[in-house]
Amino acid sequence: MMQVYTFEEGSKEMRELLGNKGAQLSEMYHIGIPIPPGFIITTKACIAYLKKKKIPDSLKEEILSALEDLEKKTGKKFGDASNPLLVSVRSGAPVSMPGMMDTILNIGLNDEMVETIAKNKSKQRWVYDCYRRFIQMFSEVVLGISHGEFEREIEEVKKKAGVEKDHQLGAKELKELIKHYKVVVKRHNAVIPSKPEEQLQKAIVSVFSSWNTPRARKYRELNKIPDDLGTAAVVQAMVYGNKGKKSGTGVLFTRNPSNGKREIYGEYLMNAQGEDIVSGTRTPNPIKNLKKEMPQLYSQLQKICRKVEEHFKDMQDMEFTIEEGKLYILQTRTGKRTSMAAIKIAVDMVKEKLITKKEALLRVQTSDIEKILHPVIDPKAKYTVIAKGLNASPGAASGKVIFDTEKAAQLGKEGQKVLLVREETTPDDIHGIAFSQGILTTRGGMTSHAAVVARGMGKPCVCGCGEITIDSRRNRCRIGNIVIKEGDILTIDGSTGEVIKGEVPLVPPSFTPETKKILTWADEVKRLEVRANADTPEGAKLARKMGARGIGLCRTERMFNEANRLPIVRAMILAKNRKERMKALEKLLPLQKRDFKEILRIMHPLPVTIRLLDIPLHEFLPSPEELLKEIEYLKDFKEVMKSLQEFPHILQLLDPKLQVYLPPIEKFLDDINKKKYQHLSEKLLQEKISMLEKVRSLEEVNPMLGHRGVRLGITYPEIYDMQIRAIYEASAELIKEGMEIHPEIMVPQVCTAQELKWVFKRVKKIASEVEKKYEIKVPIKFGTMIEVVRACMRAGKLAEIAEFFSFGTNDLSQATISFSREDAEKKFLPLYTKRKILQDNPFSILDQKGVGRLMMIAIEWGRKTRKDLKIGVCGEQGGEPSSIHFCHRIGIDYVSCSPFRVPVARLAAAQAALKE
Ligand code: ADP
Ligand code: MG
Ligand code: MG
Repeated sequence: MMQVYTFEEGSKEMRELLGNKGAQLSEMYHIGIPIPPGFIITTKACIAYLKKKKIPDSLKEEILSALEDLEKKTGKKFGDASNPLLVSVRSGAPVSMPGMMDTILNIGLNDEMVETIAKNKSKQRWVYDCYRRFIQMFSEVVLGISHGEFEREIEEVKKKAGVEKDHQLGAKELKELIKHYKVVVKRHNAVIPSKPEEQLQKAIVSVFSSWNTPRARKYRELNKIPDDLGTAAVVQAMVYGNKGKKSGTGVLFTRNPSNGKREIYGEYLMNAQGEDIVSGTRTPNPIKNLKKEMPQLYSQLQKICRKVEEHFKDMQDMEFTIEEGKLYILQTRTGKRTSMAAIKIAVDMVKEKLITKKEALLRVQTSDIEKILHPVIDPKAKYTVIAKGLNASPGAASGKVIFDTEKAAQLGKEGQKVLLVREETTPDDIHGIAFSQGILTTRGGMTSHAAVVARGMGKPCVCGCGEITIDSRRNRCRIGNIVIKEGDILTIDGSTGEVIKGEVPLVPPSFTPETKKILTWADEVKRLEVRANADTPEGAKLARKMGARGIGLCRTERMFNEANRLPIVRAMILAKNRKERMKALEKLLPLQKRDFKEILRIMHPLPVTIRLLDIPLHEFLPSPEELLKEIEYLKDFKEVMKSLQEFPHILQLLDPKLQVYLPPIEKFLDDINKKKYQHLSEKLLQEKISMLEKVRSLEEVNPMLGHRGVRLGITYPEIYDMQIRAIYEASAELIKEGMEIHPEIMVPQVCTAQELKWVFKRVKKIASEVEKKYEIKVPIKFGTMIEVVRACMRAGKLAEIAEFFSFGTNDLSQATISFSREDAEKKFLPLYTKRKILQDNPFSILDQKGVGRLMMIAIEWGRKTRKDLKIGVCGEQGGEPSSIHFCHRIGIDYVSCSPFRVPVARLAAAQAALKE
C-alpha cells in the first residue's frame, strides 16, 4: 500500500487519505495553478504511526524517493548549501481544522550551510531570516519550547537595533538573533538535529502527533469530527515571501465573506513569510493595494481566483506567496462566510452559471435564513457576556431593564427601548412583551410562555437564565456580583442565549433581493405548503410578508386575551346562569366577527384555519393565590379605611408594607373625604371573592387533560355557537363584497367522532341561519385537530366528517410520550438529551419514531375514508427543518409555523423535495 503520493497522483476525491489540504493542492496542480511541488504522506500512515509510535522503514524509503523526485522537479538539493532545497511540513486532516495542528517551515538548513550560503551577500538576510524562523518553529512544535521565550528575544534584539517590526531587522541582527535562540534551546537541554533528513523526520512525526494535542481533541469534540481520521503530512518545496521588496505573502477570499460581493477580499504583507500575516506583528495591507503595487501580478491573481472558483464551484479561501515577483498558491479551501454572504453567493453563482438552482437551494442552510431575519450583534463588536440562558428566540436586542410589565408597555409606547426582565411571563404580560425590544426570563424552557410568544412576535428572547435573581421589591436584579437596577441597559442575544451588560451595536435584519430570489426558487420546487400560525391582523400581515400560503392556526383565545376583551370574557365565565353568559357572548360576537373579517381580508384568497376555543377557562382568570392575596389586602384595606376616617393622623404609623400601595398622604386624605376608596374596596372585595369561588370551582388536578377544547364547546355550547356564527357572518359579509376567501373551522382536542358530529350539527344549523340571513352560500371547510392519541386511532371515522386534519404536534407529542411539556423541559429533558436517552427535545424536533408513527397511521386511515383529505401540521415542530423533511415524506400537505419561521420552512420544504 502506498503511503506517499505526489500532487500529480492525488485528487479531490482522495480527501480521506490525503487530507483536505493535500487533496486540494493535488486538484490545483491538475488545473494548472502555480503551486510549489510536493508530496503527501497519508492519514493512514499517521494512524499507523500513532498506534506504534514508530515510522516504519518502508515509509522512510518512500519519503526518500519522493524527496529525490522533488529535488529533480525543483532542480535543488536537500541539504546542499550550494543550491539548497528547503521544505515545509504541513498538517492537513480530511476535515479542515484551521490552526489546530502544526506546520514547520524552512526545513533543511544547519549552521554550516547557513554560513556557506551567507557568504553570498545577496542571500545573507534571506538565509538568516529563514534559519531563525526554522529554529523557532522547530523548537516550538517539535521540542515544545514556548512561543513567548522566542518573542522575548526578538523584542530585545529589535529594541537594541532601534526598530519596531521584525522585517526591519537586517542580516547582522538576524544573525545575532539566531545566537539568542540557540541559548534558549540550550537552556531547555534540547537539540535541533543538524542533519536535514533527521529534521524532516522529526517534523513529520510531530505533525502526526499534533493530531492528538488537547487543543485538537477539544476542537474535534466541539465540531463532532471523529478521532480516528488522522492527519496527512504535506511536504512541500518552500517558496519565499521573505526575499525582499518584490516578495510577500497573503491570504484572500475569492468573494467578500461578509456580504458576498464578487470581489477579491484579503490582505498581504511584503517581505514576509507564512504566519506573519495572522500573527499581528505587522498590520497587513488590504489586497486592493497590490493592484497598484504589482498590477500584472494582481491580474494573474484575479484569473487564478476565477479559475479555482470555477473548478470548485464555491467561494474559496486561499493562501498565496510572491517570490521575487513570481506568484504561487499555497492553499485553497471553501471559504467560511456569513449567512448573508452565503445567500448572495449562492444566488450569484446561479446567475454566473457556476451552479444550478437546485445546488443553490441545497447549499444555503436553513440556519442562514433564520439568522438574517433578525437584528444581530454587529460581528465587529467587542463585549463580555455576563450570563447565559436558553436561546429561545433568535435576534439580538438592547434596552433599559424593566421588571414591571405595565411600565415596560408604557415606556415602550413612548418610544423607549426596553427589555422586559421577568422570572417568567403569563398572558398578562403580552402587552409588555409587545412593546419591549426583547424578553429575558430567569425561569422556563424553550416552550415557556415567554419563548413561544417571543418567537411568535419575532422578538429576541433569552429564557431560563437561572444565574439571574430578580429582587422585584427593590426593582433590581443580580448576576453574581453584578447588580442591575431598573433602567440599566442590557443586551440579549436570543440566538446564543447570551446576556451582555450595556449596549452592543446591532445590525438590522435584511431581506435582500437575493434572499427573496432563493425563497422564490424554493417555492417553485417545494411540494409542502407553508402556512403561518397567526391570531391577529398584524400577525396575518406578517405571515403574508414572510410568504405564508395561508394561516394554518388562528387561535381564537388570543383574541379573548386582549386587554379590552378580558373583562367581557371574565364576565362570561363568571356568569351565574345561561342568560348572563349570553349577554357577555353577545358583546363578544361583533368583536370576534371583526377580527375574523380583518384576518380573512388580509389573507384572501389564501386559506385561514380558525380554531374554536381551546384553552381551559381558568386561564382567563387570575390564579387563586393571586386572588387570595388581593382579598387579604382588600380586607386589611377596609379595616384601615375605617380607622383612617376616624383618625386620619395614624396614616404615618401604618405598616410600611401597606404604605407602598398608597398614594401620597395629602391626596389620600382628600380621596378618603370623598369616600372614594370605601366604595371601591367593598365592591372590589365582593368581586374578588366571587371570582375566587369560580376559580376554585374551575380548578383541575390536571388541566392539560381536563375541561378544555371540544369538551368546553359541548358543555358550554353558547361559546362555540358564538364563534361559529362570527366566522360565518364575517365570511358572508366578505363574500358579499365579492372577495374570494377560504375560511376553515377547526375543532380542538377531539378524541371521538361523536364530539365532532355534535359540533358539526351546530355548524350546519348556524350555517343555514346565516346563509338565509345574508341570502348567499357560505362555503366553509370543517375539520379537526389531531392531537389526542385516540383521534389517530379513529382517524378513519373522523374523516367521515372532517374535510381536513391538522396535527397539533405539541399536544400530540405530550399525549404520546406522557411528558408534560413544561415540567419535562424544566426538570429532566435537558439531562435526557445530554445523556442521549432521548436524541432530541421532542417538543422542538418531532419524534418521528413515536409521534411520527402515529401520524402515519392517522394519515393512512384518514385518507382511506376520504381520498382528498387535506392534512397539515400546526405545532412548534412545523417550523423545524428535520421535522419538515419528515412531514414531506409522510404525505402531509402543509406545515404551519410562527410567521418568522415561514421563510426557514419554505427553504426546508424545498430541500426536502430536492433530496427525495
Ligand atoms: P495552517 O493549516 O495552520 O494554515 P499551513 O500548512 O497552511 O498551516 O501553513 C502555515 C503558513 O505557512 C501558511 O501561511 C502557508 O501559506 C505557509 N506555507 C506553508 N508551506 C509553505 C511553503 N512550502 N512555502 C511557503 N509558504 C508556506
Ligand atoms: Mg493554511
Ligand atoms: Mg393543542
